[in-house]
Amino acid sequence: MANYCIYIIDPFNEIQQLVRVAEKVNEMFDPIAKKAGFSATSTMFPQYRNINPLMHESMVYVCPFTTSVVKKMDGASSFDIPDAAISPHQGVTFISKETGSEIWCKFSGVNFYAAMIFHELMHNKLQLGKSLHSKFKACGMSCETINPETAKPSEEEIDAMAAALAKPVKQWTGGVDMLWNAAQDKANGNDLWNLPISG
Ligand SMILES: [Zn+2]
Repeated sequence: MANYCIYIIDPFNEIQQLVRVAEKVNEMFDPIAKKAGFSATSTMFPQYRNINPLMHESMVYVCPFTTSVVKKMDGASSFDIPDAAISPHQGVTFISKETGSEIWCKFSGVNFYAAMIFHELMHNKLQLGKSLHSKFKACGMSCETINPETAKPSEEEIDAMAAALAKPVKQWTGGVDMLWNAAQDKANGNDLWNLPISG
């Protein structure tokens, strides 16, 4: 059986850190992937632009603080996106014909990074907006505020994600070029790289 693939689009962080994040995400997802009939989880940080996840695979963008790519999705401009500066909710998932998830890398800890990815993938694969935050009685990763140092998925959450993992959820890939272009701007010393990406 194949591995379950998670694509994380992050042109901004050091590859050494990304390897540690991948290990952590794999560790959290492996029991879920196995329950869903996959061999294991493959969390990948592709360093190229042409990414086409299969219908059941997942994708998360890692945006510089204040720079949302999900906001650029069709229909997302009127969507209630949390304020990155003050919200405990450090990411957003927009669900439409396609689904787009992102986290904001305000803090750089591996545990924080991995926990936020897990949380947004719950919104993504379960196709739930804010109602996710109160859906599970035993709330490990689905609550609005989680402690990334201690958080782990509850049995109930593992079961729900395992049931959803193989289901098709079309992932929005339109943000890949936007983020790589922003990274290029940063590499070129353009001070404006961290401003909201123009549509
Ligand atoms: Zn949430």
